Amino acid sequence: MTMDIKVVKFGGSSLADAAQFKKVAAIIKDDPARRYVVPSAPGKRFAGDDKVTDLLYRCYDHASKGEDIDAEFAHIVERYNSIITDLEMDFSLEKEFAQIKNAFLCHAGRDYAASRGEYLNGKILAEYLGFPFLDAANAIFFNEDGTFNAKLTNTILSAKLRSLDCAVIPGFYGAMPNDTIRTFSRGGSDITGSIVARAVDADLYENWTDVSGFLMADPRIVQNPQTIRVITYHELRELSYMGATVLHEDAIFPVRYAGIPINIRNTNDPSVPGTMIVPDAKHPSYETKEIVTGIAGKKGFCTVTLEKDRMNDEVGFGRRVLQVLENHNICFEHLPSGIDTMCIILNTHDVDGIRDMIINEICQTVEPDSIAIDDDLALIAVVGRGMVKAKGTASRIFKSVSDADVNIRMIDQGSSEQNIIIGVSESCFETAMCAIYDEFAKDNKIR
Ligand code: ASP
Repeated sequence: MTMDIKVVKFGGSSLADAAQFKKVAAIIKDDPARRYVVPSAPGKRFAGDDKVTDLLYRCYDHASKGEDIDAEFAHIVERYNSIITDLEMDFSLEKEFAQIKNAFLCHAGRDYAASRGEYLNGKILAEYLGFPFLDAANAIFFNEDGTFNAKLTNTILSAKLRSLDCAVIPGFYGAMPNDTIRTFSRGGSDITGSIVARAVDADLYENWTDVSGFLMADPRIVQNPQTIRVITYHELRELSYMGATVLHEDAIFPVRYAGIPINIRNTNDPSVPGTMIVPDAKHPSYETKEIVTGIAGKKGFCTVTLEKDRMNDEVGFGRRVLQVLENHNICFEHLPSGIDTMCIILNTHDVDGIRDMIINEICQTVEPDSIAIDDDLALIAVVGRGMVKAKGTASRIFKSVSDADVNIRMIDQGSSEQNIIIGVSESCFETAMCAIYDEFAKDNKIR
């Protein structure tokens, strides 16, 4: 029987100081399947502290303006040295620090600067665990245009890792074709973890952070929301799109492609099972009774409403309207339509400063009887694979919202029947979110 392979990624708060390193090492040693480890840079140790990545960006910006960086650089060095000292390690990064400082002064690039946060933390963690260190610059690759090169990375990374029983691979960066360093967007160590999981065909990708999983609703809006036990990639994508965050959005794609589940876990509370993110929830151990998996939403939308008599007979009407948006490089969010009306929900931010121009162009193109933009729209997505089978979900949503004295301005149900989206005035957003949460949270037993 072959041993399970788990790829474990630890976020910045999990590796912020020596005490956190000890917890991480204990978690890794607790399960021999935890063989490939992806660390972030040291994060905040307490509220108001700095993340090392932010310190590196700031320090590099000063270096690139020709300013003195001695004190700032020494502060970064101190963050790492205090970890090494407090772990009582016989290990030094002085050579690396000198090289990096020199590269800062030679303007080696902002991405290079930021990537050193993960690089140095990876070096310490590898030494502390007794694992080989694999530099992401030699195994994760970008294309000339800066996009991630999945094919080349997968070939080289999987060959390198298959020859290693275990390894530490720093997150967040890789190499461009000309060997310079490039990073993913902020929070990108999640993506590295997912790429590594795919490369070794892992049984599980564990993403260790400082929360015990993915919450059913935003805790800044709903008090003490329940943790989601099992969520599908599809549901997670819907919720992340509407503003829910735990994992970098792009981290889903490499493992989703390979059908590898992700387990969100808490480094500070490792006995909690966390949230499983799975390709589909048909497996018996993933079965749940929940109808709604999660609720997420965002403010800042507007509705463009067009009316025209006999719109339904006019072939190409919709295409011509959308062409105007495309010409301005604007994505639409939703398109709920009637016989003689068409509504387009847009991100208010996308039309800032150009709304008159867009209205004029739409008027010239399709000559509507009337056209209006209404601001102040918040969207709430109620997401759940359980909704496909359950009758009455929409009516429960509408009743809970109307009982909370909130008017629903827009409704859109995705054809997958896994989400219902409603639009409410921004001032009613929080009230509506809480009302929907309270209605469905009572279905779920697990807290
Ligand atoms: N250290 C990087 C950041 O702060 C990447 C990460 O932590 O995932 O964004």
